[in-house]
Amino acid sequence: MPPSREGLVAMRVDLHTHTTMSDGTLTPRELLERAAAMSIRLLSVTDHDTVRAYSQLVPGASDSLTLVGGVEFSTQWRRVGVHVLGLNVSLDSDALGEGVRHQQALRLERAARIAHRLERLGLGACLDRVRVLAGEGSIGRPHFARHLVAIGAVSTLEQAFGKYLGAGRPANVRLAWASLGEVVGWIRGAGGTAVLAHPAKYRLTRTKLLALLDDFIEAGGQGMEVVSGQQTGAQTRDLASLCIEKRLLASCGSDFHQPGQPWAELGRVTALPSGCRPVWDCW
Ligand code: AMP
Ligand code: MN
Ligand code: MN
Ligand code: MN
Repeated sequence: MPPSREGLVAMRVDLHTHTTMSDGTLTPRELLERAAAMSIRLLSVTDHDTVRAYSQLVPGASDSLTLVGGVEFSTQWRRVGVHVLGLNVSLDSDALGEGVRHQQALRLERAARIAHRLERLGLGACLDRVRVLAGEGSIGRPHFARHLVAIGAVSTLEQAFGKYLGAGRPANVRLAWASLGEVVGWIRGAGGTAVLAHPAKYRLTRTKLLALLDDFIEAGGQGMEVVSGQQTGAQTRDLASLCIEKRLLASCGSDFHQPGQPWAELGRVTALPSGCRPVWDCW
């Protein structure tokens, strides 16, 4: 018999995590082992613009936990880079495959342009090295940041973003990511649930946050992350009331990238506030 809704809310759920297939430090199997050790019962691996982790993981229920297919798509809303989670996606769907291919081509193009900018800044050629750092995974700015730390150009990843890779910095290449509509289309085409990731992280004004939610709903978006690893309790309560007001499904995830990260540990996110309808209710 499936657990009651209350039981599911109380159990450990983490629907936003990363592995070495994007910018996380644990391999897919290591992440799964850590999730089991953390007594997580419902997990999704949501690497940036790729589902390659699932070449090593099989979605479904095991003794200890249920794994659902997931992805975190990068998208562009107005001038803001916004992330959308595709949860419970069917991994062999054509729509998802198309989306992942589209985004990976953009990531490769952007990587070449970032490398070019860094070289012009006198930091030497780095694309080959960064490709090695990314391995089989989705190449991204964190790999450039790791490279810049490795060559001693900066001493921390944070500094690499602050000096070179972050918004408005000289090696930040603005990219026309897919639109909200395209991304939601790929997710829903794969039978998944489209969830707006970490809404508090964009630091939008109230007016803009409401406009983003409305545009996301208009595009077919179905849920929002009410609980995310890097936000305060007050932000969670505020997002919960917006979620209820906008009649969206509610999700929760740590945005786990590595053990010891400064924000919530894998699975250590608070339960959804009461009144929120959990996204897994519709699976
Ligand atoms: P990308 O998707 O390639 O643009 O890279 C974005 C990722 O970089 C985010 O998902 C974070 O994991 C990481 N990131 C963004 N800003 C910072 C920062 N200031 N310091 C460290 N990591 C960051
Ligand atoms: Mn990341
Ligand atoms: Mn994100
Ligand atoms: Mn993430």
